[in-house]
Amino acid sequence: MAGGDAMSGLRAVMLGPPGSGKGTQAELICGRLGVPAISTGEMLRQAVADGSALGLRVKEILDSGALVDDATMADVMEQRLAAEDAQNGFLLDGYPRTLGQAETLDAILARQARTLDMVVLIEVPEEKLIRRALARQRADDTREVISNRQRVYREQTAPLIDRYRTQGILESIDGDQTIEQVQADIADLFGVTA
Ligand code: AMP
Repeated sequence: MAGGDAMSGLRAVMLGPPGSGKGTQAELICGRLGVPAISTGEMLRQAVADGSALGLRVKEILDSGALVDDATMADVMEQRLAAEDAQNGFLLDGYPRTLGQAETLDAILARQARTLDMVVLIEVPEEKLIRRALARQRADDTREVISNRQRVYREQTAPLIDRYRTQGILESIDGDQTIEQVQADIADLFGVTA
């Protein structure tokens, strides 16, 4: 592993359907790992809130639950992973979301002579996901947008599971537990004891 000790050098991805709690879990474990949690959803929502050129371009796409195109996301990730705080590891939440994005991520890391260490898949039965999503929905989320997000995950993101399993870096976690239990399982995976 390039640079730092095993934990602080960790380069990992949280994978899971909308409503699986991966954002919450990424935030919690990052505080303990000492690497930044990088959420592309947060970055894009911030761009919309700022009214930046990127924000204006992606607003409607975010509202619909569809995915922003891979080329735009490649620019976003290139820039974010070049930042100082990402040089000694990171935990990605919400990227990659397509096979094309997975290739882009590999290419960005290869240029830095690095590879991905681990992909953590948080598994939750689909009917629970819909219920959770309805409970936490943002003001403008409709039931259609929520089920559209699930469909987009099934069709475009779920194929990443096989890719990373074949690569031998996929670890699955049962996400149908309390936040604390899921966090404890993730901490075990990353070897965080305290
Ligand atoms: P999230 O908070 O991760 O659910 O992301 C919210 C929305 O941002 C998604 O529904 C997409 O429209 C967009 N988004 C976030 N990450 C990506 C990504 N890696 N690729 C394409 N679109 C994304």
